[in-house]
Amino acid sequence: MILVGLTGGIASGKSTVSSILKNDFNCPVIDADLIARQVVEPGAKAHKKIVETFGNGILLADGTLDRGKLGEIIFQDEAKRRKLNAITHPEIGKVILISILKYLIRGHRFVILDVPLLFESKTWINLTTFNVVVYCDFGAQLSRLMNRNSLSESEAKQRIDSQMSLEEKQKLASIVINNNGSLDEMYKQVEELHKLLQSSKRYLILRISILLFILCLIYLFLMLIG
Ligand code: ADP
Repeated sequence: MILVGLTGGIASGKSTVSSILKNDFNCPVIDADLIARQVVEPGAKAHKKIVETFGNGILLADGTLDRGKLGEIIFQDEAKRRKLNAITHPEIGKVILISILKYLIRGHRFVILDVPLLFESKTWINLTTFNVVVYCDFGAQLSRLMNRNSLSESEAKQRIDSQMSLEEKQKLASIVINNNGSLDEMYKQVEELHKLLQSSKRYLILRISILLFILCLIYLFLMLIG
């Protein structure tokens, strides 16, 4: 099996590409954003630790995290942001690793790892075989972000500027989906990407390695009992 990183910039179209791969092409997708929300749900280990660290004041009446309040706290305080990351990142990492293993055991040839900060966090980049960047130019990104999140031009610009630029991400990509055009044009590129992943034989490297490893273990076992 191979891991295929999928990333982009805010409102560049990553979620749209991810859902096409998942829903139209039945690809296994690990959604890091979704996992990040799940690990802080009430009852989860990270939720408990966050409340212990930041106090009950960051909870809403229903016991879920007040994301706005927590966002404000960590926006103003770098040390607190690090603390929060130190609580959530290992939990997110664990769930991602377990999901990868599940797909490996089920015999999938590839898994899409949908991670917004794929290049910034550097955790998963060492494990991915291909890195797909959903790219669009600044103008398209700005207007899509303004429309989707009902933001003013300056608010949207501020959010885009706080991230690594799409130009930089594009340079680090092994595959670029150019999303400057229509949704139909993007869809065709996703279809091509799917074909490429389906036909790639790179998954065999890991499969053969695992097989050789198991054969070695059996050989050692037979030597020991024989
Ligand atoms: P991201 O996950 O990268 O933040 P989304 O997939 O949510 O971005 O896309 C941002 C917005 O732009 C959404 O409202 C989406 O429907 C719209 N969008 C994405 N691609 C296109 C496109 N090619 N043409 C027009 N709108 C698009």
